[in-house]
Amino acid sequence: MTDVKGMLIAGEWRSGGRSSPNVNPSDTNEIIGHYAQGDADDMRDAIEAACAAQPRWGETTPQARHDILAQAGNEILNRSDELGELLAREEGKTRREAVAETRRAGQIFLYFAGEALRISGEKLASLRPGVEVDVTREPVGVVGIITPWNYPMAIPAWKVAPALCYGNAVVMKPAELVPGSAWMLADILQRAGLPDGVFNLVMGAGSIVGAAMLEDPRIDAISFTGSQATGARVAAACAKHMRRVQLEMGGKNPLVVLDDADIDQAIDCAIDGAFFSTGQRCTASSRLIVTESVHSRFVEGCLERMRGLKVGHALDNDTTIGPVVDQQQLANNLRYIETARGEGGSIRGGGERVECGRPGFYMTPALVTDTSPQMTINREEVFGPVASVMRVRDYEEALYVANDTQFGLCAGICTTSLKYASHFRRSVRAGMVMVNLPTAGVDYHVPFGGTKASSMGPREQGRHAAEFYTVLKTAYVEP
Ligand code: ADP
Repeated sequence: MTDVKGMLIAGEWRSGGRSSPNVNPSDTNEIIGHYAQGDADDMRDAIEAACAAQPRWGETTPQARHDILAQAGNEILNRSDELGELLAREEGKTRREAVAETRRAGQIFLYFAGEALRISGEKLASLRPGVEVDVTREPVGVVGIITPWNYPMAIPAWKVAPALCYGNAVVMKPAELVPGSAWMLADILQRAGLPDGVFNLVMGAGSIVGAAMLEDPRIDAISFTGSQATGARVAAACAKHMRRVQLEMGGKNPLVVLDDADIDQAIDCAIDGAFFSTGQRCTASSRLIVTESVHSRFVEGCLERMRGLKVGHALDNDTTIGPVVDQQQLANNLRYIETARGEGGSIRGGGERVECGRPGFYMTPALVTDTSPQMTINREEVFGPVASVMRVRDYEEALYVANDTQFGLCAGICTTSLKYASHFRRSVRAGMVMVNLPTAGVDYHVPFGGTKASSMGPREQGRHAAEFYTVLKTAYVEP
């Protein structure tokens, strides 16, 4: 009989009625494991367990919550090689990237372990004599967490750790493609001493268990990262139930390269931002906006660097670009490249499916030059190792083009001019701005999130996470 890794509901592992194989995108002959696939009843049971467990969890001491989060964080750090390897096998990013992501998840748990000790309020004098006013933060209640496949450890960590830190109970639904990392996280949290029902894991299809979460009136808040289409459903369901919502959706992040940039540094930023993690990052530098006089040096330099990138199995030591996550994403990427070609772009440096000795979803990174802002490649998020280059006259046009998008997650500029760097920081419409740095690669102790169609609701990460995971209470007291 196949060993099925179960869901965690009310402190019990449950295998559910169905299971599905977790396939390695570097080698589709390898099945990493079989994971339970829940249904709407499993989701309802998990929500019931969370509702039952939350009040007591919300009343635990900061020290108790600190200790459990720290225990989980330390275990993740101590096992980062092993957990990173599993992550690389199920998602396809390189071992180095996967171990770094796992370490990040551990650090996030330790950060919120500390935050549990620092939850504070305000005390003010009332307008009325003799009355005292204080403002405190309380848990929201039961938080639903829906996560994507591209950061199977870090994104769950940056949602689950603050949720638990501030006294909420959690029901998490991970992406279908990466149940392994989610299962590991659940196992670690359970063994760290979380009371039954405080953290529940329900695996399965978005259209079934995800939809059941959205429709359940007992969920007090939902934090979601994923596509715009699903984000819109989440927002609509949250409006219907009058519950708070936090959405992180895509990006079409510009990296502006000006005449006065250090070109080698700009090329480093572009290659890292566009292609590492196989370009499967919502902060990927997918639009490279380059002024005329450095355009050809920049493009030639990028192509030269791309020739040195090694596409291959995520666990091979010399691999710099792992496979695409699955067949459907690979087909999407290749279709976007064809569309770009059809609309007049020149495909440089690759953009083709390749064989790497094992059956996997491999493609070479692509740079698409001669593109204009109206082309599909510059309007829609590809979510693969594909970047486009737009040639502009000067800084003013670069800024205009950078802002000419529905998205607003992150924006970068490479320049040695303080004047342009400062102006760009103020004027670009994005939640995060990078100067002489890749658009991808953020710290965990500061806010993460975007503007426009990229995000909705309060920011994630750092102490600002409290804005989503707590509600304020204002008390007036006449002693
Ligand atoms: P992607 O295209 O990157 O897979 P999705 O938005 O489809 O992005 O998936 C992000 C997360 O949302 C996944 O965990 C997925 O299962 C979940 N999801 C997909 N459809 C729904 C839905 N109808 N209701 C709730 N969650 C969903």
